[in-house]
Amino acid sequence: MDIGFIGLGSMGQAMAANLLKAGFKLRVWNRSAAKADELVALGATRVQHPADAADPAGIVITMVSDDAALRQVVHGEHGIGERLGRGAIHLSMSTIAPQTAQELAAAHAARGTDYVAAPVFGRPDAAAARMLFVLCAGPQSARQRVQPLLEAMGQRVFDLGDDPVAANVVKLSGNFMILGAIEAMAEAMTLGERYGVARDRTVEVLTQSIFPAPLFVNYGRQIAAHAYQPARFKLALGLKDMDLVLAAARKVAVPMPLTQLLQGRLLSALARDRGELDWTAAALGVSEDAGLKPLG
Ligand code: NAP
Repeated sequence: MDIGFIGLGSMGQAMAANLLKAGFKLRVWNRSAAKADELVALGATRVQHPADAADPAGIVITMVSDDAALRQVVHGEHGIGERLGRGAIHLSMSTIAPQTAQELAAAHAARGTDYVAAPVFGRPDAAAARMLFVLCAGPQSARQRVQPLLEAMGQRVFDLGDDPVAANVVKLSGNFMILGAIEAMAEAMTLGERYGVARDRTVEVLTQSIFPAPLFVNYGRQIAAHAYQPARFKLALGLKDMDLVLAAARKVAVPMPLTQLLQGRLLSALARDRGELDWTAAALGVSEDAGLKPLG
């Protein structure tokens, strides 16, 4: 049975390519059809509509940008919702609101289709290298059925139980923590810079002593050099995630003042036309607040 793959952006392209390399047969769909060219060259079949990617009792993967795009490919014209039936699985890998996962799971369940949430940590280079961390939640039998697919796309699959919401909440929490680290590093480097310490020297010392984690090393280098293009994770998508964190937190009355600060940082970057830059470009605002002109 062919697997359907919908959404061939920076992440989806690399993930679908790994499924092909692992021997799965794919039917692929992307809104801008040309993005399927490379995968077709690797053996995938291009289809005309999202629904054509789905097999009534098969597995269809979605990796589109946000909640609205996901609703569109599920419930829109020629969406997968009209095609999936009993025994099918929608494996949803985008970063979306827990509530959207809940709604989609209920809509699919009415047709006998299982919904599995499997958002990921790792940027497109990690996706290409099959190094993603996958957070998986959904009905147990469906989780077991998608396991070989997830293993073909990532280095480790974390099982978060039967409720898809859990995977989305943990994923959003992780992105909040990454952006918090970006802000903290940018502030530390800017402070050093104001006292004559080179940005890369600050990163070097801190990541070779008390913060050796890959996240600090990799993001730190990028922020030190103010290197925000090409975007590996677009700033506009990062803002989408902070909006989702705050909405989820509001729903259960959990104050997250730090997230509000980070949301404001990204919003201000968006107002300066930085939505298509990498989300580490949040650091530009930190420099500018300190009277520096990082872009000359
Ligand atoms: P991207 O490069 O911007 O790709 C977005 C994809 O969504 C494209 O295939 C795009 O189609 C499609 N899309 C957008 N709106 C659509 C609509 N209304 N209908 C149908 N398709 C639509 O984004 P990405 O970086 O691959 O991210 C994909 C998801 O993974 C997001 O939820 C993101 O938060 C998450 N994620 C990203 C990263 C990362 O580092 N990049 C890491 C982990 C998780 P077109 O090609 O036609 O525009």
